[in-house]
Amino acid sequence: MKQTHYDTIVVGGGPAGIAAAIAAARLGQSTAILERHDILGGMGTAALVNNFCNAHFDGKRYIIGGIFAEIREALISRDALYVTGGLEPYNHHAFQEVIGELCREAGVEVYTQADVSGCAFQDGHPACITFRGQAIEGSSVVDASGDAIVAAMAGAPFMAREKGGRPLMPLTYCYVLGPADMDIIRRELPEVIMQDKHSGQDYLYLGGQEPLREWVRQARECGDLSIPRERIAVAYSIPGTPENIAVNFGRVSIADPTDPEQLSQAEKLGKQQVEEGVRFFKKYVPGFKDAKLLELARQIGVRESRQIEGLYCLNRDDVLGCRQFEDAIAQCSYAIDIHEADSDKTTMIPIPHGKHYDIPLRCLIPASGPSNLIVAGRSICATQEAMSSFRVAPSAMAIGEAAGVTAALSSLEGVPMREVKTHRVVARLQETNGILN
Ligand SMILES: Cc1cc2nc3c(=O)[nH]c(=O)nc-3n(C[C@H](O)[C@H](O)[C@H](O)COP(=O)(O)OP(=O)(O)OC[C@H]3O[C@@H](n4cnc5c(N)ncnc54)[C@H](O)[C@@H]3O)c2cc1C
Repeated sequence: MKQTHYDTIVVGGGPAGIAAAIAAARLGQSTAILERHDILGGMGTAALVNNFCNAHFDGKRYIIGGIFAEIREALISRDALYVTGGLEPYNHHAFQEVIGELCREAGVEVYTQADVSGCAFQDGHPACITFRGQAIEGSSVVDASGDAIVAAMAGAPFMAREKGGRPLMPLTYCYVLGPADMDIIRRELPEVIMQDKHSGQDYLYLGGQEPLREWVRQARECGDLSIPRERIAVAYSIPGTPENIAVNFGRVSIADPTDPEQLSQAEKLGKQQVEEGVRFFKKYVPGFKDAKLLELARQIGVRESRQIEGLYCLNRDDVLGCRQFEDAIAQCSYAIDIHEADSDKTTMIPIPHGKHYDIPLRCLIPASGPSNLIVAGRSICATQEAMSSFRVAPSAMAIGEAAGVTAALSSLEGVPMREVKTHRVVARLQETNGILN
């Protein structure tokens, strides 16, 4: 029989939520994680976005350690991640195993198929979180749902979309296609063959290489492709089965992914784009003639939805100016990477080479609302330009880890999130290599 009261409840089992739950449990807190899918992993598994964007300055020196580094190392030791010095594809089944093991070892109670539908907060009392018609209590709550669902239900404030600003980034249905004929590809498209720096094995990485861009142009011209993209975003071998290719090539623009009606329309169009993408690969790309759709993501991938209004709003100048903060709880060096809505363009602005910016703890704490709630992952307080950089999985995990530590300290000490001493959070993150020098 599962318990009904926890020190910390984490809502959402994506990269941020997993790290938050493990970090809180490792501080001796009874911790539950609630995930609406049947698996943990968030976009990394349910949406088949199985790779880590850069977690380092320069291909060598890592700036994100902690739980992210543990997961990465565990994947490497299972030959389940390609070490590349850039974007690193991983095997999503192995990722699921690793995060499941880490949660078990830390003593996290995992609830899957637990779609959180309600919450009740009252100052000085544990929060009550409802899912599947049952309720559990938590002294502190981490909202790692990506959509800031708990913050929304609890009436916390959100950032208004900037006037005249860009609409939300589009969504993408990802899938696995295969088997690709590696011999044909080695012969006819050698520029997409890469080598894993760990095992020395060959793998495929298809994206912006010129022959592929040209085939996308041709396919669009003759009506074979309606996907609004000028190139394949990325398609890469899955470690362990390099002939099977994870594909991120689609783009559906909607105004609000938290609206079920709009999301369902996006899923419909996203699936049509998957069918189109499969036909494109088979017809245009050497080695894919006999490939089939092997796996479709459980859900369309959502890049962006809500940003909370927090105690500080991270912005473009902070990111491009590589700003350092006194209350830094995570570091990031990934580019501003905005997939433009209703367009085939992507805006990429790199961070100066060898530098990084900090993410302050204040971005995770709602400006008002429940005092025992903290937000983690892609929905923390930031402008669109800033979030388009830190939204990637390694920094989402670093933010999650810090949120888990803060939530644990809040319930251990019986103080509101905003009264947790930043230096205590930072000390714990340094002790566990969460923040690297
Ligand atoms: C198409 C696409 C491509 C991307 N490409 C890359 C890439 O190449 N590299 C990279 O590093 N990052 C990439 N990203 C970004 C990255 O995957 C996400 O931003 C990252 O997963 C964010 O982590 P998160 O934990 O904040 O949110 P999410 O991964 O969205 O996790 C949130 C979790 O909360 C759960 N949840 C939501 N509502 C509820 C509820 N009511 N009850 C219970 N659970 C709930 C969701 O099911 C989900 O599991 C991509 C994202 C997309 C969509």
